[in-house]
Parts: sequence; C-alpha cells; structure tokens
Amino acid sequence: MIGLSSTTAAMLYLALTIAVLMGIWISHHYRSRHRKVVTESQNLRICEYCLSPYLGDISKAVTKCPACQCFNKK
Ligand SMILES: [Zn+2]
Repeated sequence: MIGLSSTTAAMLYLALTIAVLMGIWISHHYRSRHRKVVTESQNLRICEYCLSPYLGDISKAVTKCPACQCFNKK
C-alpha cells in the first residue's frame, strides 16, 4: 500500500475537490456562452390590407392576419 501522511491526504482531497469544481465551472461557462437568449417570441405587426394590429411570430416570415385572414410578409 502507498504510504500517505495525513497532510498529504488532506492536500490531495482539497486539490481533487478544487479540480472538480473548476471543471464544472468551466463547462458551465462554455455552455452558457453559446446560448442565445431570446426575450420575445412575438412582435407587433400591422396588416397591409385591413391595417389592424396583431401579434405575429418573430421566426415566421409570413403571418396570417386574424381579422381578415390575409397573409402578410415581414
Ligand atoms: Zn388584415
């Protein structure tokens, strides 16, 4: 068996704990850096045909007016 003094064992335990915490922190840092925060999913649009305002999905280029059922481009 490997002979370890109590001081060496305590230092090894602390070093391993700090290494694990640093690994968790670094992985969390790199994952959160590439995450894109989207604060809104809808924006206010005005229908080209009947001029009524409505909420349309930001990701969609063409939305349907709820009042006149016409399709509007961005
Ligand atoms: Zn309309």
